[in-house]
Amino acid sequence: MDSIFADAQKRLVEVFRHIDLTDDVREKLKHPKLSLCVSIPVRMDNGHLRVFTGYRVQFDDTRGPTKGGIRYHPDVSLDEVTSLSFWMTIKCAVMNLPFGGAKGGVSVNPKDLSRLELERLSRSYIRAIADIIGPQRDIPAPDVYTNATVMGWMADEYYQIKRQQLPGVITGKPIHLNGSLGRDSATGRGALHVLQQWVERHDLHAEKMTLAVQGFGNAGYHFSRLAHEAGFKVVAISDSRGAIFSEEGLDPQKVMDHKEQKKDLRTMLYCDGSVCDLQRYKKLSGRELLELDVDVLVLAALENQVDKDNAGNIKARQLLEIANGPVTSEADVLLAKRGITVLPDVLVNAGGVTVSYFEWVQNRAGFYWDENKVNSRLKETMVREARTIFDLAEEKHISLRTAAYLQGVKRIAGAITQQGTHEYFQNT
Ligand code: GLU
Repeated sequence: MDSIFADAQKRLVEVFRHIDLTDDVREKLKHPKLSLCVSIPVRMDNGHLRVFTGYRVQFDDTRGPTKGGIRYHPDVSLDEVTSLSFWMTIKCAVMNLPFGGAKGGVSVNPKDLSRLELERLSRSYIRAIADIIGPQRDIPAPDVYTNATVMGWMADEYYQIKRQQLPGVITGKPIHLNGSLGRDSATGRGALHVLQQWVERHDLHAEKMTLAVQGFGNAGYHFSRLAHEAGFKVVAISDSRGAIFSEEGLDPQKVMDHKEQKKDLRTMLYCDGSVCDLQRYKKLSGRELLELDVDVLVLAALENQVDKDNAGNIKARQLLEIANGPVTSEADVLLAKRGITVLPDVLVNAGGVTVSYFEWVQNRAGFYWDENKVNSRLKETMVREARTIFDLAEEKHISLRTAAYLQGVKRIAGAITQQGTHEYFQNT
């Protein structure tokens, strides 16, 4: 199997067929600008020192300081972080945010660490990468298994190193530490705006549509909650341990309340407490959830969930990519042949980085917006870029993914070309 980055790059081949680009642009999009691999020493609660491996990759900064989250996961690798930094570059351009793309990660299972160990790890990681980040250079944010609390520790560590309060260095911070209202739910909310635009455009009706959601982290939870409020029927939800299904529909908020209490979705199968009194659930494996006959399969977990081996079993009519890279390039082709529409990650999950941008703007201005303003500006941005991409796909008869990439690459190419000297070297 290809590396994740090699697979991510394959998508560009199709994009390049539809756009006239200089060699400079093609060449630049193949290589990350900076890849840093660091050792992160952490004093564990038992007194022993453990050294973790972390990464920060800045892919391209032609359009502005690089932007992208930090992931804590046992499978984090340089290949994965590089791919994620590439997707961030495309995503920021798709949304027309004045940022390039980056990503960071630490290879660790955060569930194995105590809270204090997690804090020491987060501070140690920032000490290791402090020289290459900054409000005008590279701005981290949350990603898989990191959250506002982690961002708060990281920002504080950075201020101590620089001996200055520089809140624009990290986004997704806690509200009381100069975070933005609405950032927490932004990825899920943005994804719902894209789905609603799609539904409206195709004369579909939310009340008649069923959704299965893979992944119940920050994005999957907020999306499910808001989709349920908007009238969609969420019939299945999974987390890393298993899935639950109910033909009548689930109430995602109740599922979350239960998960918070029991830390496991599967315990919902047993009738303990009020939840089971109200609803009946069927237990499924994570894989079975992917193959449910629903209108929309929502992929909100990790990359490579739908590949050439299971693409043929997908029964959903639409796939909504809230995770980064959940469908491989081979699966893209197989799904398209079967008439299944993929609403692509670089658009669908861009609400997170869009509100990160708003947070950075507020931090720099020192002037804070109320939640309505954040949410209405998010909606405006998501709707505008979604419509542009839907129009482009229809006009050129290309997939939504190719249309989104086309839109992003066009903006990046404009920046690279206007910065470069290519034309002076032609015909010499
Ligand atoms: N980690 C999120 C993403 O993949 C958010 C990045 C950010 O806010 O900078 O889009």
